[in-house]
Amino acid sequence: MPRAYKAFPRVYVEPALSAGAAVELGPDAANHLVNVLRLKPGVSVVAFNGRDGAWLSRLADARKKGATLEIIVQVAHQSEKSDVWFGFAPLKVGRLDYLVQKATEMGAGMIQPVLTEYTQVRKLKADKLEAYVLEAAEQCEVLSLPVVEPEIELRPLLEHWRATQGLRRLLFADEVAASSSPVDQIGWLNGLPVGILIGPEGGFSDAERELLLEQDFVVPISLGPRILRADTAAVAALTLVQSIIGDWR
Ligand code: SAH
Repeated sequence: MPRAYKAFPRVYVEPALSAGAAVELGPDAANHLVNVLRLKPGVSVVAFNGRDGAWLSRLADARKKGATLEIIVQVAHQSEKSDVWFGFAPLKVGRLDYLVQKATEMGAGMIQPVLTEYTQVRKLKADKLEAYVLEAAEQCEVLSLPVVEPEIELRPLLEHWRATQGLRRLLFADEVAASSSPVDQIGWLNGLPVGILIGPEGGFSDAERELLLEQDFVVPISLGPRILRADTAAVAALTLVQSIIGDWR
């Protein structure tokens, strides 16, 4: 997005965006703009919906419980969809929102909570995860929103991997793997679809680790000689993938 628009508040909307359209904001977005940011009618904002790029818009009408945007002109084209699959064992609130926000900022295309033996949080609220995604997208000018999948147990995930993911390789962040050059570990996957799997704070169980290493689509990767917390490991792994075979090049 041109930096000229960076000062304007960004807001996610559901409907299609096109010049001249009037878009009614949902209660959350309206509340955020009108009651939290205290914006007045006439103010410029940038609207995006994850499909149509970013649009300079004007707050046309601001009520306590609703607001309307007048869509003016496109200021950024829709960015390409990311094909990076990101699987993680859900963490407690506080770290979970951090993890989902960082995955969004780092360009994950699919966010998949995976339940493992030592996963502490087993019931997730899809709308909460979506909200973390939107928060990060609004803050960081992410236009291509990752899809949040419903949680799945590790075993069925691996059993159905080939059927659902085709040739995608799964980079399994394995703190037991001997530390070695990430370029060697990941570089050969250039141009191939990949996923990243990060374990819970307690790590994977021995049985799970064995099961993972048995799969021909699993590629164990080390994130260096130190044990990282799961949320740090997530950012580190996404950094490696984006820089070696992803969109940082
Ligand atoms: N096994 C430890 C720590 C788990 S760290 C324990 O019992 O507490 C949480 C997750 O982060 C791990 O499952 C792994 O996926 C990832 N991780 C942390 N440090 C790592 C490293 N040095 N290399 C690869 N993955 C790592």
